[in-house]
Amino acid sequence: LFIAFEGGDGAGKSTQLKAIDRWLREDLGLSVVLTREPGGTPEGVRLRDIVLGADGVAPRAEALLFAADRGHHVNRLIRPALGKHSVVLTDRYMDSSIAYQGAGRDFDAGEIAQLSWWATEGLRPALTVLLDVDPEVARARRAGRGAEDHLERKSPDFHSRVRERFLSLADQNPDRYLILDAGEPAELLTEQIQAALLPLIS
Ligand code: C5P
Repeated sequence: LFIAFEGGDGAGKSTQLKAIDRWLREDLGLSVVLTREPGGTPEGVRLRDIVLGADGVAPRAEALLFAADRGHHVNRLIRPALGKHSVVLTDRYMDSSIAYQGAGRDFDAGEIAQLSWWATEGLRPALTVLLDVDPEVARARRAGRGAEDHLERKSPDFHSRVRERFLSLADQNPDRYLILDAGEPAELLTEQIQAALLPLIS
C-alpha cells in the first residue's frame, strides 16, 4: 500500500506522517516504510543538496533533478518495500513536482507529469493526502520553527499558485485524494487520515 502526503511548505505533513507511521506500526502491527522526497535514498540526499543548495540550479535542471530523485527512490526503495508488503508513506511525491515545478515555475503540467511518469514507470499512490494550507498560515508556521524558505525565490504568489495547483489536481482525481484543511487541530487531521486508510488496509 503506497500513500503520499502532499501540501505546501508548513502544512504539517511531518507531524501527520509521524502520527500515522506510529499508528500503523504500534496499533495495527504493520510493517511501514516512512520516506520522503527529495532525499529518500543516500543518492537522493545528494540530489537534494544540489537542488535545494544555496546556489540553486536552472529551472529545467531543477525539474529533472526532482524527477531523477523520484525515479531512483521508486526503483531502489519504494517498489522493493511494496514487494515485501510494507506500507510506504512518502512525504511528497509526483504531485509536488506538478505543483512546484509546474505551477510554481510555470512549466507545462502535462510535461512535468510525463517526466515523473517516465521516471517512476507509472507508480501511483493508492491515496494522496493533501494538507491544504493557506499560504499565510504556513508562512507563520515556518517562521515559528525558524525554517528557511529554501529556493526562496518563493513569493506569496508562488505559494498561492502551488496551493491552487494541488487543489486542482485533487479535484481532477477525487477517488485518489483526501483533501484536508491543514488549519484544523493535528489530532483531528490524524483521525480523518486514519478513517480514510482503514478501508485500504483491511
Ligand atoms: O518537504 P520539504 O520541506 O522537505 O521540501 C524541501 C523543499 O523543496 C521545499 O521548500 C519544497 O517546497 C521544495 N520542493 C520543490 N519541488 C518538489 C518538491 C519539493 O520545490 N517537487
